[in-house]
Amino acid sequence: KHRSYYMFRNEQAQDPSTEKDRVRVIVRIRPVNNREMEKNDRSILHCEGETSILVEGAQPSRRFTFDSVFDVSSTQEDVFHYSGIKRLVDMAIEGYISTCFAYGQTGSGKTHTMLGPGGAAIFRMDENYRIKNFGLVPRAINYLFQRLREKAQETNTPFYIRVSYCEIYNEQIRDLINPGHTESLQVRGSVEDGFYVGNLFQTYIETMDELLTILEEGELNRAMASHNLNDTSSRSHAMLSIQIEQDIQGNDDPKEQMTRQGKLVFVDLAGSEKVKVSLSKGKQLTETNNINKSLLTLGTCISALSDPVKRAGHIPYRDSKLTRLLADSLGGHGITLMIACISPASSCENESLSTLRYANRAKNIENAPIIKTDSKENVINRLKREVRKLKDENHEL
Ligand code: ADP
Ligand code: MG
Repeated sequence: KHRSYYMFRNEQAQDPSTEKDRVRVIVRIRPVNNREMEKNDRSILHCEGETSILVEGAQPSRRFTFDSVFDVSSTQEDVFHYSGIKRLVDMAIEGYISTCFAYGQTGSGKTHTMLGPGGAAIFRMDENYRIKNFGLVPRAINYLFQRLREKAQETNTPFYIRVSYCEIYNEQIRDLINPGHTESLQVRGSVEDGFYVGNLFQTYIETMDELLTILEEGELNRAMASHNLNDTSSRSHAMLSIQIEQDIQGNDDPKEQMTRQGKLVFVDLAGSEKVKVSLSKGKQLTETNNINKSLLTLGTCISALSDPVKRAGHIPYRDSKLTRLLADSLGGHGITLMIACISPASSCENESLSTLRYANRAKNIENAPIIKTDSKENVINRLKREVRKLKDENHEL
């Protein structure tokens, strides 16, 4: 089971100008939960083989095919091994931008799949439980450090890891590592050079445990609002960004020295459900609108990118913060894994169909991966500027 379809190309893109890399799209179906079971809410999804899902609900039956489908019996380990995430990590080490994002309605298993059951709660469980239940992100981090150790030895060159963690909540960006520092976080940059969050706190880390601690604290800091679908459902998009830098061997002149700058990004998106399902009012309605604004724009970008004619035209990345920050991941120079999470219950038919349609469009997106490099001098100058700026800011305080 889940053996045969590791169909990802393993070799690197040879000629970046011609080599395309489709967005890899996988679907994970969570088990029917107790609440649904009590209501006799039956499963309307049938997996056929390892890549197809048949939806047989009230609407006409439909079959969808993806790069892989993980059914209710799939374990966290299965998802880690057969999702393609290892390739994303390997590519990030090589200097590409790798992005993995989870999409789906609230309660469909996004956080479960990314972090583990209960989100941050997993970090408080004993080690045996964690090893079994950790989601994709901690597993990918473990794999990353394992590969970095091997690579650093092979190449005899150290890696530098910088981490930032933020959430987009109500079209505002909040720093999840340093939650006190939130006021002026704006998206900067351009479609050409890539977007980033200006002034976002970035920290160098050296060990896996440091990174896991950031993940845990960040998750605790995520915005929560009561919601009639799921009381602790998150209404924000959380974005963990791991920059991986390594000097490229072969030139000892510091002016000529180049640095490879890969990036591994994980995004746990806010629930994709429609307003009328969640019956949000007042402040919550604004939240839902803004959440939908980002997701709606993401949907528009995905539609445009998946259409060969529209792809050549204007892609509205600029219309939301989320899409600006994901511009590189979608139809850009990175490689992307989308995980669509769905509930099998008949009561979720419309939302599940909407997620499957969304995911289906994403399959047609092509990226043209290129390795990101920068001259070492540029990197040093940039870091010097950052240090100077931080000193200035501290001075002002
Ligand atoms: P989301 O982040 O999409 O809102 P969650 O990840 O919080 O949803 O999942 C909702 C509930 O369902 C949680 O209690 C979670 O542990 C459980 N759940 C989700 N996916 C699975 C799964 N594959 N196996 C078992 N339980 C799951
Ligand atoms: Mg969640």
